[in-house]
Amino acid sequence: MTVNTIPPVDLVRQYKLISDDIDRAVLEVVRSGRYIGGTVVSDFEQQLAQYVGSSYCVGCNSGTDALYLALRALNIGAGDEVITTPFTFIATAETISLVGAKPVFVDIARDTFNIDVEALEAAITPQTKAIIPVHLFGQPMNMTRIMEIAQKHNLYVIEDCAQATGAKWDDKIVGSIGHIGCFSFFPTKNLGTCGDGGAVTTNDEAIAQTMRVIKEHGSAQRYYHDVVGINSRLDSIQAAILQVKLRYLDRWNEQRREIAQHYHQLLTPIPGIQLPQEIRGGYHVWNQYTILVENKSNPDTTTRDNLRDKLQEKGIISMIYYPIPLHLQKVYQSLGYQEGAFPVTEQVAQEVLSLPMFPDLSPEEQEQVAYALKDYCS
Ligand SMILES: *Cc1c(COP(=O)(O)O)cnc(C)c1O
Repeated sequence: MTVNTIPPVDLVRQYKLISDDIDRAVLEVVRSGRYIGGTVVSDFEQQLAQYVGSSYCVGCNSGTDALYLALRALNIGAGDEVITTPFTFIATAETISLVGAKPVFVDIARDTFNIDVEALEAAITPQTKAIIPVHLFGQPMNMTRIMEIAQKHNLYVIEDCAQATGAKWDDKIVGSIGHIGCFSFFPTKNLGTCGDGGAVTTNDEAIAQTMRVIKEHGSAQRYYHDVVGINSRLDSIQAAILQVKLRYLDRWNEQRREIAQHYHQLLTPIPGIQLPQEIRGGYHVWNQYTILVENKSNPDTTTRDNLRDKLQEKGIISMIYYPIPLHLQKVYQSLGYQEGAFPVTEQVAQEVLSLPMFPDLSPEEQEQVAYALKDYCS
């Protein structure tokens, strides 16, 4: 008997379905000799701007660079505070630190994994310049509340859309609602390329131009440098691949939604397991399907960790995003947060388990996952 391994994500399966288009797009760039910039990049920027519903889009090297460019363009730096979530990938906070500002964390809501909007206002000080809401796992934030709070306190909003390309809040695609939207095209994101890539979107022409200048070594005109910039390019080959994949994004997001729904049916109800829910008013694009496994073990090994091991024995690979909240990371010791500062985040970090999730995951594979999960929990 062969044991079928079910990976958390299978990029080859997706490639095989569109390999003719991808191969052609890549070879066209290789044969053109134009490897940096060119219309292949500017066309993709236009297509993404149109898709998101923003006036401007600037491609860059990664989602991390996108966040950095956004913060720089808004002139955020030393002495400034930026509010975000402690339950996200490090890049969100790291870029705040890189521009010299201070990350200020706010606890999350257990049912959305995103910033608890009701706790947000208490974190605002005279130094606060911006909020970075993260649409974690593909779940959009309540952007209506975020924008209300931002307007009231005169703050910028930078949306971290890295895990949520195509997600919607109130029928608007995320990245078009705040002042700047930041996207990552890391291979496992909803719109992932065959390498690194990122982009920023905005409706503000001046901000768009500033981000373009900063990502091109601080120059609007070649060899004239006005500010300290970086080199952050969306490669032509990646842009060509992304042009192909953008055409499939809506279909893939729909497939993710069907898979989430199927998981929900298969896993309802299992005592001790809390299933993820779509926030009302949102269109969730399920970069991750993340359950909460209530802890019944001693503090050394959580029930979640035991379940993860059991699934692995059956060839099912699940993931933990994220095991250590950012306020408890060594790099942020200097911020002075203690254990217990964000109780929801800290508990969730012990309980989260992301099940296999990608558009081409089969119903049979999902049944296998559900069977193994139920078997462990009964
Ligand atoms: C992936 C990710 C980033 C960074 O994107 P890269 O392209 O890997 O630099 C930023 N924020 C979040 C929430 C992410 O998941």
